[in-house]
Amino acid sequence: MKKSRAADAVVFGVVQGVGFRPFIYRLAKRFGYKGWVKNIGFGVKIHLESQEADDFNLFFQALTKEKPPLSQIENIDREPAEFSDCRQFEIKKSIHSQSFVFISPDISICENCRKEMLDPEDRRYRYPFINCTDCGPRYTIVKALPYDRAQTTMSHFKMCSQCQKEYTDPSDRRYHAQPVACPECGPEVEVKKSSTGEKIKGGIHQASVLVKQGSILAVKGLGGFHLVCDPFNKKAVDRLRKIKRRKTKPFALMASGLHVIERYGMMDTYEKEQLCSAQRPIVLLRKKKDIPGIAPFLSEIGFMLPYTPLHYLLLQDLDLIVATSSNPKDSPIMKDEKEGINALCDYVLTHNRPINMRSDDSVMKVVDKKPLFLRRARGYVPYPQKVPESLVSQKQILALGGELKDTISIYKNGYVITSQFLGDLDEYQNYTYFEETIKHLSGLFEFKPDVVVSDLHPDFHTTRYAERMGIPHLKVQHHYAHALAAMLEHHHDGRKKALGIILDGFGYGGDSTAWGAEFLLADYHTYTRAGHFKYMPLPGGDLAAKQPWRMALAYLIDAYKSDFPQVESIARINRKKRDHIQQMITKDICCPRASSGGRLFDAVSYLIGLAPEQAEFEAEAPMRLESAADDIIESFYDFEISGDSVPYIVSFSHTIRSIVSDLNKNVPIPIISARFHNTLSEALVQMSEKIRNTHGINTIVLAGGVFLNKFLLTRTLQTLENKNFNVLRPVQYSPNDELISLGQVAYALAKKP
Ligand SMILES: [Zn+2]
Ligand SMILES: [Zn+2]
Repeated sequence: MKKSRAADAVVFGVVQGVGFRPFIYRLAKRFGYKGWVKNIGFGVKIHLESQEADDFNLFFQALTKEKPPLSQIENIDREPAEFSDCRQFEIKKSIHSQSFVFISPDISICENCRKEMLDPEDRRYRYPFINCTDCGPRYTIVKALPYDRAQTTMSHFKMCSQCQKEYTDPSDRRYHAQPVACPECGPEVEVKKSSTGEKIKGGIHQASVLVKQGSILAVKGLGGFHLVCDPFNKKAVDRLRKIKRRKTKPFALMASGLHVIERYGMMDTYEKEQLCSAQRPIVLLRKKKDIPGIAPFLSEIGFMLPYTPLHYLLLQDLDLIVATSSNPKDSPIMKDEKEGINALCDYVLTHNRPINMRSDDSVMKVVDKKPLFLRRARGYVPYPQKVPESLVSQKQILALGGELKDTISIYKNGYVITSQFLGDLDEYQNYTYFEETIKHLSGLFEFKPDVVVSDLHPDFHTTRYAERMGIPHLKVQHHYAHALAAMLEHHHDGRKKALGIILDGFGYGGDSTAWGAEFLLADYHTYTRAGHFKYMPLPGGDLAAKQPWRMALAYLIDAYKSDFPQVESIARINRKKRDHIQQMITKDICCPRASSGGRLFDAVSYLIGLAPEQAEFEAEAPMRLESAADDIIESFYDFEISGDSVPYIVSFSHTIRSIVSDLNKNVPIPIISARFHNTLSEALVQMSEKIRNTHGINTIVLAGGVFLNKFLLTRTLQTLENKNFNVLRPVQYSPNDELISLGQVAYALAKKP
């Protein structure tokens, strides 16, 4: 910038409520500048004055480098300004305006606060609600904007004089930290026996003793209650499984430090980085030493580090705990004792700082050094996503997502905010959570939609909700929305088409059939179906997704017609049941057809003896299949791509025959599983090359729930990149249906009036 005595700058991004203004205040003092800083609609405005002509470059370099940990800078606009001879540097009061202010997600305790908490001389020694402008709760405690204490669930705690002093001193690291508190004036914990409500003395320490003794403890965290027990106490783990009605679904663990995780899981630098990040997600790691009963039949196990001061204190006496969200099956995480927490545990460790918005823990794997989200929630929501310049619109858009693993997204002024994972909306309580979240986000961001977007599926709750809103309503095909979301996240050039390879369960197709594994040539405006997996019968419809053996039978009959060789896993099925389903398939009774990706995994997983007869949770069969795969194996089976022009059809009948033949030759299961994964990957790569040759595309999008499979994703990514494809995959979002609402926004933006 040209030298002058004064400069103005506007910093855009997540810069409010994260200690940005006091940070600028301290920085300006360090540089000896006068002037002011204040919050404005989109960000923070800074006015700097220097005693002599200056380009202010060093100041802005320091700003970018040292910015507060919770802030996220999108852009800085700078220009020379009029010198007005300011006397000092001050933080000006902000005027609340019609605007789009970004709120920070909830972030784990920072190093400074942790040190204070463990210092016996500090007035907040062992205080479980210690926080500062760099850390602590945000999204889950704020009720409305502006982000002020009065608008959070801390409003009924009156600050003591010492806290007040810290809160109002711009040089203090708690200046305007809205949840600031201390043992004198802030929230308190309480331990209670759940059956009687009897208060238990001894606080957090006693709670940890109870866990050691085998109790199940509910712990109120940031976005809701965890259920906690000792992972090495088989009786406790079994009881917890009974309570949660989960026989095999894995539990996540919280460890006191990396040194504990190291004993049980294998970690590389990037996985460590994620575990230790301020967002503190659950990271799935390959097992080094198994803890029986925690993640049965799987090769990975989920770990996280403590993220609230309360968790830190609890884990001072315990190395490792099971920390699973406190929802009974199919309902959202509990945020309030009144929601029935007592029925799920022996003791409750609770406190009197209310949670306004519930939010689950985020879950990820690390692939190719970057996150692969299984669930995006606490720590990441509501960070904004900037949309490509060409899509920016004045409209406000509400996108409602799909039905399973739903999220909603809102668009305003160039940014999208996607909600936390909301679950399956066919469950009444999740549907209420969905409505709660629309209300919460609308309030926070002063959002009033001009347009609503839903899935094509006529029976989804979200589609009906959209119809009832009485505003312009757009509908987007499910798989197309997956592709659009990844294109938007990576700011894909709108003038070029990409090939979206979307491997998913089901989505309502553009032709009203059930689509599942799709190759879509897409830009932001439209798509064509360039290929799909062969349609297969789903014996019994929805039941086929829950009982993998039905799909195994369907694929066998497809591969061999009626006379297929003996397969051990099929022989185990009750003969009458088996004959019945076989008849259904051959006579085409109650067998809707779909081009599913997930169901192919179900079938193979069952066929080779890994999947149970009845799956307990979604993706159980594919997860077991992936867990078994030996990643040294490079070979793959035969498959078939047919058709002279688009849509090409990919068929795996040859693959199924080869698998049966390998089984009968007693080829080890890890080799068969790896070969199957490699086959799929090879099919995707061959399709990509075919369509590159005919249609000149070079960008591939990989999305859909099947790409949560790390083996498949890693292999496919590597091969495509070796062949010089530009590959986009969701990194800030999950590739599963949580992604749909973001893609719906992209579509509505491209549809300019
Ligand atoms: Zn802090
Ligand atoms: Zn205080």
